[in-house]
Amino acid sequence: MLSIRDLVKIYPGPVTALQGIDLDVSNGMFGLLGPNGAGKSTLMKVIAGLLEPTSGAVTLDGEDILAEPERVWERLGYLPQDFGFYPHLSGRAMLKHLLRLKGVRAPGGLRRLSATLLERVNLAEASRRKVKEYSGGMRQRLGIAQAIAGDPRILIVDEPTAGLDPEERLRFYHILAELAEDRIVLLSTHIVEDVAVLCPAFAVIKDGRLVARTTPAKARAAIAGAVFEGTVDESELDRVHAEHTVIQSLLFEGQHRVRIYQPAGADHAGFEPTDATLEDAYLVMMKTNADLPGAAPHAVAAGGSA
Ligand code: ADP
Ligand code: MG
Repeated sequence: MLSIRDLVKIYPGPVTALQGIDLDVSNGMFGLLGPNGAGKSTLMKVIAGLLEPTSGAVTLDGEDILAEPERVWERLGYLPQDFGFYPHLSGRAMLKHLLRLKGVRAPGGLRRLSATLLERVNLAEASRRKVKEYSGGMRQRLGIAQAIAGDPRILIVDEPTAGLDPEERLRFYHILAELAEDRIVLLSTHIVEDVAVLCPAFAVIKDGRLVARTTPAKARAAIAGAVFEGTVDESELDRVHAEHTVIQSLLFEGQHRVRIYQPAGADHAGFEPTDATLEDAYLVMMKTNADLPGAAPHAVAAGGSA
């Protein structure tokens, strides 16, 4: 179990990036969903023992990560958002180099360990090719290969799917899902689909605060019956924005398709009820700066025990 208590990070400036985060995460995939600047990377760096928080506590299976980061590094895999690559090396050579830097112990030799890891992330065939020829998805998989060396108890991946095309994203999902079978995988993302596809539980972070901690099903259920869609004339748009909580307004075939959030009882003339999606739930939380009814933080445990 990963436990985070009242975590605060204030960067020089000062910029308050984390304003008191409390979160428990057990085995399985856990999503940390939030917009740019929410504090996701800051939180992940602190958990990875690479950034000292201003105050608060982080423990992994009861062990204090902040007091003794070196002890936890052995059981931790981390794929940073800005993972650097060595374009002129082959995938295999780069991985070996990273494993050496990381001080990974490999009784059978680094070459053999690299081969096993490359196999695990479906890069065995591309292992001799130069990294500069790799697609975005292949690079991220190489990043995963170094992160899972040593079979870590916890894997932290920071916005790994940003910039991947749909097919690469799917491949990447499969690898992450497999890795989450017997460990904690903490995935940060601003892409709702990542959470919808992968995460039995997730938290929403905004402006350094946890807005919600819930499951995709509960988040959708919390707004079921309160989402409506309608076509709105350009001239009516301002009025609709003034009168309703507009979740989304999209130009579709030259017309404004508008989704609104309208809890029971309110007037929604001109709008049709529609199924609530996870994206709706997320956008409602972003717009209202609040948790959804019945989805209070800490209401559910993560992963398999949910
Ligand atoms: P996210 O990963 O969700 O986009 P970050 O954790 O990167 O968010 O950033 C959270 C906030 O902290 C932002 O306002 C960002 O500008 C600020 N920030 C991040 N790193 C630093 C830094 N090294 N110095 C000052 N401010 C920072
Ligand atoms: Mg980030």
